[in-house]
Amino acid sequence: MAYVLKQKLCPFGLSNNPNGYMDTISYITIHNTGNYASYANAANHADYLYRGSDGQATSWHYTVDASEVWQSFEDSRMCWHTANTTGNRNSIGVEICTNDRINFPKACDNAARLTADLLKRHGLSLNAVVQHNVWSGKDCPYEIRAGEWGVNWARFLNLTGMYYSGAASPGQNYPSYPGYLIGLGSAGDYVLSLQNYLNDIAGYYPSIPALTADGEFGPATQRAVIEFQRLFELTTDGIVGRSTWEKIVSVHSSLNSGGAGETPGADYPPYPGYPLNVGSSGEYVLIMQNYLNAIAREHPSIPILTADGKFGQATRQAVIEFQRLFGLTADGVIGRNTWDKIISVYSMLNSGNENKPPEMNYPAYPGYLIRVGASGEYVEIIQSYLNAISRYYPSIPGLTADGQFGPATQRAVMEFQRLFGLTADGIIGQNTWDTIVSAYSGFQGYAGTAAYTGRASAAYAPVNQIADPAAGTGYSQDTLWLLLLLLIC
Ligand SMILES: [Zn+2]
Repeated sequence: MAYVLKQKLCPFGLSNNPNGYMDTISYITIHNTGNYASYANAANHADYLYRGSDGQATSWHYTVDASEVWQSFEDSRMCWHTANTTGNRNSIGVEICTNDRINFPKACDNAARLTADLLKRHGLSLNAVVQHNVWSGKDCPYEIRAGEWGVNWARFLNLTGMYYSGAASPGQNYPSYPGYLIGLGSAGDYVLSLQNYLNDIAGYYPSIPALTADGEFGPATQRAVIEFQRLFELTTDGIVGRSTWEKIVSVHSSLNSGGAGETPGADYPPYPGYPLNVGSSGEYVLIMQNYLNAIAREHPSIPILTADGKFGQATRQAVIEFQRLFGLTADGVIGRNTWDKIISVYSMLNSGNENKPPEMNYPAYPGYLIRVGASGEYVEIIQSYLNAISRYYPSIPGLTADGQFGPATQRAVMEFQRLFGLTADGIIGQNTWDTIVSAYSGFQGYAGTAAYTGRASAAYAPVNQIADPAAGTGYSQDTLWLLLLLLIC
């Protein structure tokens, strides 16, 4: 157990949860908090939940950061974290903190361990692990879905599977020595496997320091390798050649907790074996849509898609543009070449975009006019929102989100106001604020669907320094369903 489990269990009677029990425990739902403040760690969120989420109708079971896991509700208690009745009634909510980008992989590693423990505790299999996204379409867990902070969904599942199968299927399927030396500066799946093996071994040989399993071979990994080599009488050079690799695998497979079955290169799904085309639907289409959307952030000529798993004309256009950009036959069909190219481009995206949308806690209008000369956090928020909106409305100029309201910001605000039928005075009052937030939130994960626009416009939580990571509406589930019904009708 690499993480420290702490508890601050919420008593019955708080208004942030339904004060009842779940129907079944059938799923583990993974979230990212979307709170980037450095203090917004697991303990901080546990405090927030314990004081009733400051009146917001949002709650979840576990919050995980790079060093701790805080439990706020017993597994059997029902929480409001999915914006979906089935999700809330049948799944445990795990929030992974986004307050520490550097150590985000460690937080994910802890969450994977916790999730594996929960699966075992409740007799579930790995496919019970789902994203918040499946319940409500929300782009959550954002950082994992975007895959830009070192852990994407495939890797998270892979980690969870490794911890899960530790007891279930010992000693299978070890990758063979890759054929080259692994040392300081190496990166990738072999390093990740190595780190996970060393961490498991460290559970029995505590002089081996615990590692962040992030696939990057840094000084800490080197120290762990050297200590392993010392213990097992190998040359202590901190480099993993064939003899060290095979020793690590053999020690690992002999552990009581058993081995794991990580397949190198399994971070990304393989080509399904048949081309995806207009009319295709399902998980593979959804994966491609999500990858294309991520790629579109770097290549704005690719249109943003509604990631709905349905391959329609919009998806075809995005594929054609991708193919054109990357020198493939622009036929709008995802065959093996295009599949592999999308995955390779996606996997190489580096962490460019710092303006991550908060999961749900859109700040309320601060109560005063924001105009040229203003500065600070609210200006920065608006700048980053306008930048996101400008992806869909290119006539809005891109801004440096520096928190300084200068002429460029003013021009962007005026263009936004013009587009959205507001008085184009370049000043942000309540109306403009709310419209910007509404436009921004409408693009988060649900681009273009009427239902979300309606829900999002009702969803602005009061300003709150704590992320409201989860359900994110401040509305009860019943109210949500009512809203949804109204929209459908
Ligand atoms: Zn979520």
